[in-house]
Amino acid sequence: MNKEVRVRFAPSPTGYFHVGGARTALFDWLYARHNNGKFILRIEDTDRTRYNPAAIPDLLDALRWLGLFWDEGPEVGGKYGPYYQSDRLHFYRQYAQQLVDSGHAYRCYCSAERLTALRDEQRAAKLSPGYDRHCRCLTQKQVQDYEAQGIQPVIRLAVPLEGITVVEDLLRGRIEFDNRQLDDLVLLKSDGFPTYHLGVVVDDHLMEITHITRGEEWLSSMPKHVLLYQALGWEMPVTAHLPTILDPSGHGKLSKRKKQSADGSEHLTYVHEFREAGYLPEAMFNFLAMVGWSLDDKTEFMEREDFIRHFSLEEVSRSAAAFSYDKLDHMNAAYIRSLGYNDLAGRLQRTMLAAGVKTDFATMLALVPLVRERLETLEDITSLVDFVFQEIDYPAALLIQDKTDKLQTLAILESAAVALRTSGFDETELEQTLRPEVERLGLKARQYFGCLRVACTGRTVSPPLMGLMSVMGRDTILKRIQVAHSKLEAS
Ligand code: GLU
Repeated sequence: MNKEVRVRFAPSPTGYFHVGGARTALFDWLYARHNNGKFILRIEDTDRTRYNPAAIPDLLDALRWLGLFWDEGPEVGGKYGPYYQSDRLHFYRQYAQQLVDSGHAYRCYCSAERLTALRDEQRAAKLSPGYDRHCRCLTQKQVQDYEAQGIQPVIRLAVPLEGITVVEDLLRGRIEFDNRQLDDLVLLKSDGFPTYHLGVVVDDHLMEITHITRGEEWLSSMPKHVLLYQALGWEMPVTAHLPTILDPSGHGKLSKRKKQSADGSEHLTYVHEFREAGYLPEAMFNFLAMVGWSLDDKTEFMEREDFIRHFSLEEVSRSAAAFSYDKLDHMNAAYIRSLGYNDLAGRLQRTMLAAGVKTDFATMLALVPLVRERLETLEDITSLVDFVFQEIDYPAALLIQDKTDKLQTLAILESAAVALRTSGFDETELEQTLRPEVERLGLKARQYFGCLRVACTGRTVSPPLMGLMSVMGRDTILKRIQVAHSKLEAS
C-alpha cells in the first residue's frame, strides 16, 4: 500500500503573509487534497532575530480566508505536534547530539569576533567566505579548555571534504553539488535553537512529510539537507522547488515591499491587503492556483473541486510566472458577477461597515442589481453608493446642466417634487411619471435627469438613477430635491 501523502507548509513568522507564500501554501493544499492526504501547517519560529509574533494571526487568518484549512497544526493539533518549532527544541538538541556522537557533527567554540575577522581576511584575499573548520579536529584537551572557559558552543555539520552531493528535485531534476563548495553549516546555535536546516530536516522526518514544496530560492540549501538526511539515515521526502513569481513586467521578482506601478498606484503584495482591497477569496484562489500551473492553454476559471481533481505537482511550470494584477482584477469582477444576490449583498454590507458607512442588508440587497456590473472589487462599492447612506454636499452650480439656466433648473426640481409626491416608486413607475415631465418642460432627458441625478446623489455620474431613487425611497428623494431647490435659489 502507498504511504499517505503528507504535505506541509512551513512559514517563518517574520512579517505579513506575502502572496508568494500563499501560492506555495495553495499548491501544498491542492496536492494534499488531490491525493486524499494531509495538509500540515508548521510554524518555523526559530530565527529569534527575525521573529514577529504578530505574523502568526495574520498568517492563520489569511490561510483560512483562502479556504486553505490545515489538518494538523496550530489551533487544530495533531499527533505529530507540537507544530511550533520553538516548542520542539528538545528534538533538535537530541538529533544534534546524535550527529555529534556519530561523528557527523562537531562542537565549534569560535567566537563571533574570530568569525568576523576570518570573513574580513577572506574578503581581502578575494576568497569566498566560509568557516575554516578550525574546531573540526580539536583535541580532547582543547575542548576541555574551551568548556572550562564557559564558552557555549554551536554544533556544525562535518560536511564531507570531497565528492558530490546529488539533489533530485521533482521540477528541477538531478543537480550535483561539489562538496568542496559547501560550508560546515551551523545546526544548533549557542542559544539552543536550531538553524532552519536542522529544524526543517528533523521536523519533516518526524512529521512523516512525504512532499515538500517551497520557493526555488531554497534550492541551494538542498545539498545541506541531503547530507543531513544521509547522516541521520533517513529517507528524503520528494521536493518540488517552485518557480519564482515575477512582477507584472516579468523582469524582477515580485517584491515584498510596495512597488509603484507605471500609473503611480501601489501594487499590493500581502494577502491581508488583497482582502482589505475587496478581492474575493475564491477569485484569489483561482488566480493564485494559476500562477505557475494551468489545466491547458485556455481555461481561466475553475472551481475549487476541479483544481483538486486536476492539480499535480509534476505539471507545475519550470519557468517563472508573472503576477498579472490586470488578470486578477478581471477575474475578481467575474467572480463578483457570479455571486448570488444575497451573498454579494452580505459581503458588500460588511465592506461598507468596515469603511465606516452604516448600511442595512435590505438596502444593500436592493442595490446589488444596480452595482454588480460596476464592481471590480468589493471595495469599489463604498465610493459607488455611499451617498445613499450619508448626507451629500455639492456646489449648487452642479445642478445646472448644459444649455439650461437657473430658472429652468428650478423648474425641473419643482416638477419632480410635485410628480414624485404621488408617483409609484418602482423603476418603471418612476420612469412613467418623469418622462412626460421632461417633455412638458421642453427639455432633453439628459438635462432633466442630469439635474435630478445631482440633486439625489450629489454627483454627475452614478449607477442607474431610477433604480437608485427607488431604493432610496420617496421621503429621502423628496427631501433631497427640496434641499437642492433651496440651495439653488440661495445661490
Ligand atoms: N521556513 C521557511 C520559510 O520561511 C520554509 C522553507 C521550507 O519550506 O522549507 O520560507
